[in-house]
Amino acid sequence: MEQPNRPRVAVSSCLLGEPVRYDGGHKRSDCVTDLLSTCFDWFPVCPEVAIGLGVPRPPIQLVKLHDGVHALGADNPSLDVTAALQACAQQLAVQLADANGYIFKSRSPSCGLTDADLFNSEGYVTGQAPGIFAATIQACLPDLPLIDEILLDDPVAREAFIQQVKVYRPAGEELK
Ligand code: SF4
Repeated sequence: MEQPNRPRVAVSSCLLGEPVRYDGGHKRSDCVTDLLSTCFDWFPVCPEVAIGLGVPRPPIQLVKLHDGVHALGADNPSLDVTAALQACAQQLAVQLADANGYIFKSRSPSCGLTDADLFNSEGYVTGQAPGIFAATIQACLPDLPLIDEILLDDPVAREAFIQQVKVYRPAGEELK
């Protein structure tokens, strides 16, 4: 239940323990559910569910093509959800105009901030890249405090994020 004056922070739903992953599982983070739940109100988001892929669903992966990075079906490359994930992020960015931060699941082709595997068209990993949804959120809300689940386990980085969230003033919000 939301309490007044607590920061509102978006979070990848699977980190809250919601069974929204492609295989029907979750990636519950004790840091999110136990530690940070005492100071933040959550705005859970699963972009792959939001664009209608359902649970369970075929896994997707990032593939570098001639015109840029795409999110394609890992088993069916004709499934291209790049534009759907970008549109989802653009719509959500409007709803997040009054949010104070965002915690992303690491390594996801949708939610990863920096570290999703990037494949070439032959199916080999050639590097890492941000997930399509997370990259679009960053472009739409460049000042919003962001962190991923791996960095959140670092006490120094976690405390820095908490302080950023507490002092961040969303655009248009009047100082109280
Ligand atoms: S990483 Fe993102 S897209 Fe994948 S299950 Fe979690 S919230 Fe959904």
